Amino acid sequence: MTHHVEKAIVIGAGVVGVATAYALARRGVAVTIVDARENAGLGTSFANGGQLSYLYTGPLANHRVRGELLQLALGLKPEFRIRLHTDPDFIRWILSFLRNCTRDRYIRNNQAALEVTLESRLAMLNLLQKHELDFDYQVRGKLQLLYSKKAVSAVEENFTLKNMSDEDMRLISYEEATKLEPALGYAADKPMKALFTPGEAVGNASRFAQELLKLLVNEYGVETFFGERVVHAALHSSGADIRLADGRRLDTDLLALCTGADRQLLKELKLDLPVYPMKGYSITAPLGDHPPEISLTDSKRRLVFSKLGNEMRIAGMADIGWTHEEPDKGRLRTLVNAAIESMPEAASYERATNFWAGLRPMTPDSVPRMGHPHPALIYNVGHGMLGWTMAMGSGERVAGYLKGQIEEED
Ligand SMILES: Cc1cc2nc3c(=O)[nH]c(=O)nc-3n(C[C@H](O)[C@H](O)[C@H](O)COP(=O)(O)OP(=O)(O)OC[C@H]3O[C@@H](n4cnc5c(N)ncnc54)[C@H](O)[C@@H]3O)c2cc1C
Repeated sequence: MTHHVEKAIVIGAGVVGVATAYALARRGVAVTIVDARENAGLGTSFANGGQLSYLYTGPLANHRVRGELLQLALGLKPEFRIRLHTDPDFIRWILSFLRNCTRDRYIRNNQAALEVTLESRLAMLNLLQKHELDFDYQVRGKLQLLYSKKAVSAVEENFTLKNMSDEDMRLISYEEATKLEPALGYAADKPMKALFTPGEAVGNASRFAQELLKLLVNEYGVETFFGERVVHAALHSSGADIRLADGRRLDTDLLALCTGADRQLLKELKLDLPVYPMKGYSITAPLGDHPPEISLTDSKRRLVFSKLGNEMRIAGMADIGWTHEEPDKGRLRTLVNAAIESMPEAASYERATNFWAGLRPMTPDSVPRMGHPHPALIYNVGHGMLGWTMAMGSGERVAGYLKGQIEEED
């Protein structure tokens, strides 16, 4: 007999959780959202780079990174570091990461990630056609700044593999890029070339999560439990139940785990998913004298610049092996220095209002994990560097796994 799902509990109200709740609620499921924090979008979704990077998926594990591993482990690259330690989860993750550092795996992983981002672009457009949400969403395109022949050829390989047309993305000279984005005329370090992707967007992920949550509560009757950590979850033949930190128990037909980089419930439910935190940093500052309107990715320093409303968000750094959210002052200084070295006029750095660190839920292949391993469970985790971009599509995808258990589309 099919296990029919009338109600669901979504654990985690980051961008992935609210997108999953939206996909379920639209299909007639009565959804309850639970999160340990006080509102939606306060975890890793809080102050990320803001880029909705639908066409430029580039898995972290690739054949080019393999040659740099020793440098990374020795901390010789300020923007990307690996700290070795003996946590068995870390060791398994790093070994799997190494296995993914081949060209064949890179091609396969890139394709798998691209499928999710393309579904996501469509899902976001569908949502925005139906509802007006205020989250500084802008479709102004993206320029990826390339400083070496090696970086140019890596990008060429990436877009050839994806069969992109010139309208989707094209390599342009620094002069052409500066015509499109005059702020690049003030770049301190002039890039050799740029990859222009005109259809890419930006938006404030945290504001989006809170706006979508409001819509879910007001129009779909979604219930919320904020400031409530789920300390225990169990599955049984007719559904699932959870226990909150204060001892309360809730039961449901379906649990949807959207818990980001927090692995506690994955472990408890014996889900062997290779999700491991990769720490990143951001600052948010008032606009400088020459802020870029088009979002920028500085590929040398692994930095993104996104204008969100009247502020500049600058995000970057990839630290594997650091599992605590607390921002490290030294790393923040490195981020600010790199940003000034790249685009000194983009932001009023000395007046920055927010200094932040977050844990990306990374998988070794940069492909998120979505699944339906039990009639009363779906999971939607491991979106790594592109969770904001992938959230809407992966929410739709996991709701699609429940075919036969819930209504089709609204
Ligand atoms: C510096 C930086 C820059 C980034 N830039 C970009 C970008 O430009 N574009 C892009 O697409 N992506 C970007 N990302 C990645 C993106 O932010 C993440 O992939 C995304 O936010 C993950 O969303 P999530 O909903 O899975 O996780 P989260 O937002 O962390 O949400 C998970 C939620 O689950 C809750 N939770 C977990 N366990 C429990 C429990 N037991 N009980 C109750 N609640 C629980 C947590 O409190 C949390 O709120 C960036 C990330 C970082 C760190």
